[in-house]
Amino acid sequence: MAMRRVPFYLHDLGAPEVEALARVIEGPILSTGAQVADFEDRFARYLGGGHAVGLTSCTGGLQLALTALGIGPGDEVITTPQTFIATANAIVQAGATPVFADVEPETGNLSVAATAAAIGPRTRAILPVHLYGQMVDMKGFRALADRHQLALVEDSAHCVEGVRDGVRPGQLSDAAAFSFYATKNLSCGEGGAVLARDAEVARKLKVMRSHGMDRVAADRFKGGFSHWDMVQFGWKYNMNNLQAAMLLPQLERIEASTARRAAVWGMYETALSGVPGLDGPRTLEGVTHAHHIRAVWVAPEARDRVIKSLGDQGVDAAVHYRAVHLLSWFRETYKLAEGAFPAAEAIGARTITLPFYQRLSGEDVEHVAGALARAVQPAG
Ligand SMILES: *Cc1c(COP(=O)(O)O)cnc(C)c1O
Repeated sequence: MAMRRVPFYLHDLGAPEVEALARVIEGPILSTGAQVADFEDRFARYLGGGHAVGLTSCTGGLQLALTALGIGPGDEVITTPQTFIATANAIVQAGATPVFADVEPETGNLSVAATAAAIGPRTRAILPVHLYGQMVDMKGFRALADRHQLALVEDSAHCVEGVRDGVRPGQLSDAAAFSFYATKNLSCGEGGAVLARDAEVARKLKVMRSHGMDRVAADRFKGGFSHWDMVQFGWKYNMNNLQAAMLLPQLERIEASTARRAAVWGMYETALSGVPGLDGPRTLEGVTHAHHIRAVWVAPEARDRVIKSLGDQGVDAAVHYRAVHLLSWFRETYKLAEGAFPAAEAIGARTITLPFYQRLSGEDVEHVAGALARAVQPAG
């Protein structure tokens, strides 16, 4: 009997995206133009307001947001060690210093209390991450940021669709950065956006995403030739029309894909409840989960063996994330050591990411759960 294979990720893009791409290719503007502006409008509307700026990545968005908010060399930004390296790297790219604070053991999200304890004289911003798609306590972080006059920037790479206590990404912060990388809930292969509450911050981001130029090519195409000026320092992070065109149909069907992800998540809840001794992040009261990453926690000494066993049974698993402060470069550069952030380290040592996407069937989920049950109890 052929073994069922469950790949780690499969996108659900198809005819609508192909058509949207074809329409851009038939037109004159491949770079930043009408489709990007359309996506920015619709994305901001979906998120309940604010100003969206289309970019090439979430990493670039985090860096630009910090820079636009005046954070740079000499400044410290408090963030979580339980995240992808992009979060901390963006702080370094902005010229600032990342300072880690520990996470809540039950969710893996940055703890408001640990963040408060890490605030020092050089702290200028807080950068939490909505881990796996569950929002952090934004009301708590907003109050803390206000108390100490800090900027608040969200890494919302995992969370477009989430809500917590009536709050959505980008609503209580200065800026929220989103990712449209290949495996994210919305994807154009590579891409990102920032949602800013303040129109002036968004305007600055639009200048900074294109080398600090006061006009982009599409503007010059419209009005005939005119000289542009470089009005401030900038980067090359502008989203192009091909990326935006791929995202627009996904935004149009987001209610349906959100419902499908919730359904697959529910199938996992049921299937995994039969696996003995399995732990995992808790979804808190008041949270509407964005269902991005399906993590389970096993014994640290068993973790790598379980992943290997899953692979042998046709299930591709991964790890999100080993604690960032223990990776060589961070350890060496910031003199960090094991034991500094025990909750983040414990999750990093125990966590396994299961395949999770809209195209998973009930049989796929059953197969993953069965494989996991066999993997955690090899003798049974
Ligand atoms: C994917 C991801 C990023 C980076 O997104 P890019 O668009 O690839 O730059 C940042 N933070 C987290 C938590 C992510 O998962």
